[in-house]
Amino acid sequence: MNMGVFLAFTFCLSNAAFASDRDNIGAVPARLISELNTWLDTETEYREWDNQPLIKLIEAEQADKLHGVADRSGGRIRGLYDAEIETIYLTEPWSPDNPRDVGVLLHELVHHRQKERHWYCEQAQEWRAYQIQAQWLAERNIADGFYWPAILLQSSCAKRDVHPE
Ligand SMILES: [Zn+2]
Repeated sequence: MNMGVFLAFTFCLSNAAFASDRDNIGAVPARLISELNTWLDTETEYREWDNQPLIKLIEAEQADKLHGVADRSGGRIRGLYDAEIETIYLTEPWSPDNPRDVGVLLHELVHHRQKERHWYCEQAQEWRAYQIQAQWLAERNIADGFYWPAILLQSSCAKRDVHPE
């Protein structure tokens, strides 16, 4: 690749990243992300690492088509984390003023930190992510409403589609 083409290409990429960062600032305030990261630093065993995740708001219909660990509540996907592209998706409506919505963002930030570790299966990350989310909500006197037996099952690496043989 000649240098001019390479530079033009790199410029486009960084411009795209810049544009989406700006989009995120409107919906997900940078200050909120940094507050949550500080809380995660003090309250959990997971450390922040160099790459910040990209955070995108998406419509509910889009959520079903995306790859990643999906987190549901009331039957709908509230948040998703795609470790391959280090992207957090939050399903609309999402508001920084709603602590439950913020709890979903916190949960996905945990998944981003968990990426640094080895996991037997992707689902195994869920147990701790939900625990951390519940702790954060409890500190704000909000009942998590989680059904723990279902989360335990969701966190299991056992195959779900059992073929009788
Ligand atoms: Zn999760």
